[in-house]
Amino acid sequence: MNCQEHHITELFKQYVGLQQTLLIRPDTAQQHAVNCCFKRLLDRFHRETDVSILLQALPDPYFPLGMLEQTIFADVVGMRFFINKKRYDLEPILGQELVEWAGAFLRIRQDIQTLFDPNTVTCIPVDGTRHHLPSGQWCGLCGVCCQIGGVPPDPPANVVYPDHWLGFLAGETLENQQLCPFLFQYFGEPLYFCAIHNIKPLSCLVFDQKDCRRRLEDRGLHGS
Ligand code: SF4
Repeated sequence: MNCQEHHITELFKQYVGLQQTLLIRPDTAQQHAVNCCFKRLLDRFHRETDVSILLQALPDPYFPLGMLEQTIFADVVGMRFFINKKRYDLEPILGQELVEWAGAFLRIRQDIQTLFDPNTVTCIPVDGTRHHLPSGQWCGLCGVCCQIGGVPPDPPANVVYPDHWLGFLAGETLENQQLCPFLFQYFGEPLYFCAIHNIKPLSCLVFDQKDCRRRLEDRGLHGS
């Protein structure tokens, strides 16, 4: 690629900023800027199937743009190492991870519609309407507890997950999973919720306020 062009990480972050603002405050005057930015990002993908997946997934009001910005597209800072996500040699991998992520999101979104009741599977009906999220609970919906590589995919009693969810939950399907693919975002806000909250795996069900505090003290390796 031409090194004078914007890096895919920059293009993705620009799109995230504009799209989240648009979702929070719908404004037709801003739609054009978002579309232009989205097109610049999509131009980096050359397979029609990839473009089609991204076109469907990224504008979805539940797609976790903010979380992908904080994980896949965030630098990694360790004690003795640093991974700069604006390295040009990482562009193909980042692009592929974005497509895989978007594909998993669409599949889960579809499963929720067809295999479960989208009105009750999670804390709000996932019907594209701004239903009020639950409030007055200890969980602040920051989503940090779901920045994980996988969980044991054991469902609660009387629930059967489709086979392909087992790999999504266990972190065995998506390459380099850093975030649970069942985590959805609420209309561009920094608010995240489990798409299968009412049928989530047993290990997620037992996660409590003490675990939450511990998790926030140890937030991992991602930088900006
Ligand atoms: S299944 Fe739900 S609660 Fe469990 S890690 Fe995934 S998003 Fe979080």
